[in-house]
Amino acid sequence: MIKKILILHTGGTISMSEDADGNIKPNDQNPLTAIQLENKGEVELVTEEIFNVPSPHMTPQRMLELSLRIRRAEAEGFFGAVVTHGTDTLEETAIFLDLTISSKMPVVVTGAMRSSNEVGSDGLYNFRTAITVASSPESVGKGVVVVMNDEIHSARYVTKTHTTNVATFRTPTFGPIGIVSEGHVNYVQTIKPQAHEPIDHVVSNVYLVKAYAGMDTELLHALNKPETNGIVIEALGAGNMPPETLPELQSLIDHNITLVLVSRCFNGIAEPVYDYEGGGVNLAKMGIIFCRGLTGPKARIKLLVGLSAGLKGEELKKYLNN
Ligand code: ASP
Repeated sequence: MIKKILILHTGGTISMSEDADGNIKPNDQNPLTAIQLENKGEVELVTEEIFNVPSPHMTPQRMLELSLRIRRAEAEGFFGAVVTHGTDTLEETAIFLDLTISSKMPVVVTGAMRSSNEVGSDGLYNFRTAITVASSPESVGKGVVVVMNDEIHSARYVTKTHTTNVATFRTPTFGPIGIVSEGHVNYVQTIKPQAHEPIDHVVSNVYLVKAYAGMDTELLHALNKPETNGIVIEALGAGNMPPETLPELQSLIDHNITLVLVSRCFNGIAEPVYDYEGGGVNLAKMGIIFCRGLTGPKARIKLLVGLSAGLKGEELKKYLNN
């Protein structure tokens, strides 16, 4: 049976070209759409250019449009979907889709580190590999995955780790969930299922702040305003904050602003371990929610999705902890 795959181009380096001065620029026409991939009659590609933006121009509103388009695809008879995307914010769009699409349909996000006409361009290769993964029966029920450089990563934990290297996408702590080798899809681990919130709107004013030695109240105070819906804090180590920030953190909680804590460390999980002033045990007692295993940008997307779904109190805490 021929599998119908929905291709959604959103822009990014994968659709850009290098000019005579070596600068990388967007194209009006995505070069991938002009390429005829070899096809043994197994897949039918249906292409839509939903956006043509560099990924720093991506917004939660655009992520929602993408999610709504993919949510319609299963009923339209698609077996899977491939999203091409700029790599800078790819990890945020990928987790947004993962949290908001409840279908078991394979959804693969891919991109490129080298533009379409650069020597050693990885765009076409990644695109073809992403189609292979999206059309594999083994990808059904795996959640949204990111496919780059022959590796399959879960959208939940993957992150861009290098500014230019083609092997930039990594999953610290847990590793990739599979590899593609000579065109064969090999999954090596599954990650635990999670709740989905098929939201139809997104709230704004959800922020991300990074902690540092000697941090005081200034940045947090600037966010202590009625419009603020939530703040994710990339805290120190296992999940600790400088003591000078505590009065402002308390004031934010008193103003019913949801505070979520992750670690700024590259590896590991934030946990309430230390019982000193500003230690994680104190912070948890104050009502700051620990979000296990996610990076700051991903926890921000999860908080935004949870708040957009109307989750509050214990329900929101459970959702973020899961
Ligand atoms: N700046 C580009 C973008 O994210 C980088 C890339 O796509 O690799 O759109």
